[in-house]
Amino acid sequence: MNKSFGTLLIVFFLLSWNIEPAAGGDHHGSGHLVLVAGGPSHSTGEHEHRAGVLLMERCLANVPGMEISTHFGGWPSDDGAFDDADAVHLFMDGGGGHPAIQDDRLQLLEDLIDDGVSLGAMHYAVEVPKDRGGEQFMDWIGGYYETHFSANPMWDPVFDNLSNHPIFIGVEPFSVHDEWYFSIRFREDQVGVTPLLVDAPSDDVREGPYVHPHGPYDHILERKGESEIVSWAVERKDGGRGFGFTGGHFHENWGDENFRKFVLNALVWLAGADIPANGVECAVTDADLEENLDE
Ligand SMILES: [Zn+2]
Repeated sequence: MNKSFGTLLIVFFLLSWNIEPAAGGDHHGSGHLVLVAGGPSHSTGEHEHRAGVLLMERCLANVPGMEISTHFGGWPSDDGAFDDADAVHLFMDGGGGHPAIQDDRLQLLEDLIDDGVSLGAMHYAVEVPKDRGGEQFMDWIGGYYETHFSANPMWDPVFDNLSNHPIFIGVEPFSVHDEWYFSIRFREDQVGVTPLLVDAPSDDVREGPYVHPHGPYDHILERKGESEIVSWAVERKDGGRGFGFTGGHFHENWGDENFRKFVLNALVWLAGADIPANGVECAVTDADLEENLDE
């Protein structure tokens, strides 16, 4: 090969190298899901944020079109962790200590949302203070757990009225004992909120005690016989999506095939990738459920 032809090849290679990265850089692709796990909490087997996120990661890693990033211990140390995310899913303790409301993170999330990024929140992560995150969560994912308005009893809803929403692909009716929060503070008239998992709590469940505070509350008792929403989806006007799921207290519930498939499907939907024809299939054994637990 003569020297100038070699140089030409190198120049051509460098040019094409430079062109590639310029094609990326906006958020309107699909499939990149950032999973954020809160720190240790509760007793072993409860609020297992790290083990839950590792399980979600393993189960989603091989779904075509999905790319998973994980962060543990509450919040990524570098905001760059969210670059190029299509969706962010939070599994962490909430309330006043919610990692997403500390420092300037609500603004960070607002900026992501403005870029069309989707947001999911699971179990305690759906609870934010009314005056710090409440309005944002209502806007971003459709609703939030509001202390003294929402309730958190342990109960066994039966989900046997599944809609044709894509998140239910391959999901059969199921029932799982969990701390299923309800009476979520939704947007007014539940505008844009698509109920997914719905059941009517028994009178006993409404009468309490709830896990904390023990209740009962009059407005919860007044709705005896009515159905309550414990998981929902939102499609925002900007194209971003939202997902709320109030179960997830007990790690062993990942062992229920339909509970698991429902959440995994929801995360694929959230990230804008295609849910597999039979839903996300992922074997989880009893031994798997003993892995990665907080001490
Ligand atoms: Zn809990």
